[in-house]
Amino acid sequence: MSRVLIVEDEAHLARGLQFNLEAEGHSVRVAGDGETALDWLLKGKEDFDAVVLDVMLPGMDGFRVASELRAARNYIPLLMLTARGRPEDVLKGFASGADDYLPKPFELAILLARLQGLLRRSGWMRASREAASAGVPPSPEGAADEVVTFSGRTIDFSTLELRVNGNTIRLTLMEAELLRHLIRNSGKVVSRKSILEQVWGLKEDTDTRAIDNFIVRLRRYIEDDPARPRHLVTVRGVGYRFLAEPDSVRS
Ligand code: CA
Repeated sequence: MSRVLIVEDEAHLARGLQFNLEAEGHSVRVAGDGETALDWLLKGKEDFDAVVLDVMLPGMDGFRVASELRAARNYIPLLMLTARGRPEDVLKGFASGADDYLPKPFELAILLARLQGLLRRSGWMRASREAASAGVPPSPEGAADEVVTFSGRTIDFSTLELRVNGNTIRLTLMEAELLRHLIRNSGKVVSRKSILEQVWGLKEDTDTRAIDNFIVRLRRYIEDDPARPRHLVTVRGVGYRFLAEPDSVRS
């Protein structure tokens, strides 16, 4: 059972979500505004495992809530609900620290799957961190503790940190998960469909643009020129391919 905080001012939507998450076995609390949510998350004694955060809130909006959480070094898994047709919201959501996002209106099954993906991923992270601090070698299952280096970049999947030119960037859960999936399949074409299934745990999604938005983010981290990607290349009509050493592959 996970403890989920829903931050949504539209009472009927919040109640519907609460009902369905509880039916899935989660314990749920609803905050009707961002200030209350921050209060519970940062000062409260309550512990949550994940947050479903609406962007449109009275007073402080969802972007601000996310930024303040991250500024306080609270990295709780965060699924942001954005307005459909506003791609700028998605990018703003990531910039403010959301781990994943879903445009409204959404299908409940997709929200549940995306939330489950975040919870699963953060469970692995926790397990691998605890194992590492206890000196236990990493298990293949939770191999979140890989460190990957290519082209002057080092990615530590156990801390979600990417180091480049002396700077450290903290990846979100889903950014790290997607990057890891692509790196594990290095050199191979990875289809959008397989990304949805393997990374997000979805059988289908009406919005595969989600993946493209994540790729845009990842390119900013790992490419010298994100507009002319060499490591994370688009395979038209299919998906993407990761190449650690693009110069050694000539096709
Ligand atoms: Ca709202």
